Amino acid sequence: MTHIEKIRLLKLLYQYRAMGFEYFQEYRPLALLQQAMPSSTLEELKKSVAQCHLCGLAKSRKNVIFGAGNLKANVMFIGDNPGVSEDETGMLFSGKSGELLAKMIENVLLIPKEEVYVTHILKCKTPDNRVPTPEEVACCKPYIMQQIQMIRPKIIVALGSTSFHHLTGEYDTPINTIRGTVLNFGEAKLIPTFHPNFLLRNPSAKKEVYADMLKVRSML
Ligand code: SF4
Repeated sequence: MTHIEKIRLLKLLYQYRAMGFEYFQEYRPLALLQQAMPSSTLEELKKSVAQCHLCGLAKSRKNVIFGAGNLKANVMFIGDNPGVSEDETGMLFSGKSGELLAKMIENVLLIPKEEVYVTHILKCKTPDNRVPTPEEVACCKPYIMQQIQMIRPKIIVALGSTSFHHLTGEYDTPINTIRGTVLNFGEAKLIPTFHPNFLLRNPSAKKEVYADMLKVRSML
């Protein structure tokens, strides 16, 4: 085992200990290492995320929601965490917020929804849809970063404050002051906007999101 592999294994063991594991009945370093190593394809990554138990959310989830859409999408929408209906059905952005997101894509960006890629920062539902903890995000964030790296979108739309804060690390900037701003994010441009769930509760904010989507359209 190389030095790097040992460090990765040690890091994983610390994470398992933080989750309450005290021992492993069977010592399987290769299986553990596979989880820590970056995957080379999205399909491989999807398989390892489906088996992920790195944070406590694995205990209460029914389905892991990985992401869906065009693997060569120009635009990637990133939400916060799967909701109850996504966890129940296994379907990404199901329900009313999904319908609203589809309208934003098809009626304002004027492209079929299958043309974009949609996912969340976190891949498992949080209890009572609470905001994910920094520890949960720290465990899950490598997955979204790998998805971004593999899809290489031109534009990332961060849906809502949880997505924006954890993607950028700008925890002190409220979403209502930054939404619609075009930010640099690696090779991509990132535009934060309100989450469809927020729009369902606050329909008057739709005009701001409409303006943000027009900006995305102008950059395509
Ligand atoms: S939320 Fe992410 S890190 Fe936590 S168990 Fe689910 S996939 Fe793994």
